[in-house]
Amino acid sequence: MSQAYKLIKNCRIVSPGLDIPRGDILIEGTRIAGIYDGTAHNTPALPAHETIDGEGFMALPGFVDVHCHGRNSHDFCDASEEGVNEIGLGKLSEGVTTLLPTTLTVSEQRLCDALSAIRRYNNRGCKMPAIHLEGPFVNPAMKGAQNPDHIRKPDAALVERLNAIYPIGKITFAPEMEGGVAFSDTMIRHGITPSITHSCAGYSIFSACHEHGLRNLSHFCNQMTPLHHRDIGLVGAGLLHDDVYCELICDRIHICDEMIRLAFKVKGAEHIILITDAMSAAGMPDGLYDLGGLDVVVKDGAARLKEGGALAGSTLKLNVALKNVLEVTGLPLSSLVAASSLSAAQSLGLQGIGRIEQGYTADIVLLDSNMEVEKTFVDGELRFAK
Ligand code: FE
Repeated sequence: MSQAYKLIKNCRIVSPGLDIPRGDILIEGTRIAGIYDGTAHNTPALPAHETIDGEGFMALPGFVDVHCHGRNSHDFCDASEEGVNEIGLGKLSEGVTTLLPTTLTVSEQRLCDALSAIRRYNNRGCKMPAIHLEGPFVNPAMKGAQNPDHIRKPDAALVERLNAIYPIGKITFAPEMEGGVAFSDTMIRHGITPSITHSCAGYSIFSACHEHGLRNLSHFCNQMTPLHHRDIGLVGAGLLHDDVYCELICDRIHICDEMIRLAFKVKGAEHIILITDAMSAAGMPDGLYDLGGLDVVVKDGAARLKEGGALAGSTLKLNVALKNVLEVTGLPLSSLVAASSLSAAQSLGLQGIGRIEQGYTADIVLLDSNMEVEKTFVDGELRFAK
């Protein structure tokens, strides 16, 4: 019989600003009821509980991936309920407990179908509280792997129609497109997080959006205006403004190691959001795949459009992203770990997620010393074990 309390025993506990070499985590239902430093020998008498042996493992806040198109040969835009279920389960194996299914620049009908399939998700994998719409309101000049046939100008009415099918949490758009700055304001008023990329916007357009509350840049550095000494562009804006959250694809392909170091040095983990930007080839072998109707070749784990060779999402897993950042920056895990959960949660206004702390949601990942995922708990429930 399962108990109301669970105790993860004898694990290293790492949370933003916290690193306990050996401790216990008490879970009551869906919440963390307490954490105890095992070396202090002050663990109080605990209620009857189920024990999970955490010996040799690290417990981290469950990862939050706000930018992910698919996995296990499925893309959210395939609009397949079975595909959504498989992605949800697959993400647990990389330690993700909260995911924003991310759409591509496709037709409105296909977006509606994709959101309807997500609405039928069985909720047995990671949580999917809201959608990230990437496009279709992007700049054709910075389309990357977004299908140009379906690019359109910012349209709040379209977002409203989609929001009626499944909640929209974040929208990636180009503010220099017609009505873009006003669109950003409208999204904020509706509680949707606007985020810029696939954009040629200079600093002044960014600044107009920032003055009205925009605080996010999607896949920072990729498909946005670079830093120039007479217009610092979107890259400069992300580095300059402490309050701006920057998504980073740390697969060591999309951005170089020095940019990872620079971003963490200037911004700190509290305003960096590690994302996978994974497409259907994540968790699958090299080969030929589809991304929003475009052919993609995956070779040595790098996904590129067959035509033109633009990077077409990634095959990155979030535990590997964090491992890469650890290796590249050489910083202690406790000062990096905000980037894999807390920053994402805060950027979206999700409360009670991103820390291993009393009162927080019991979304926890247990990893070995090589950052391989051993167990994943969602709302206190063990949903993945290696
Ligand atoms: Fe993109």
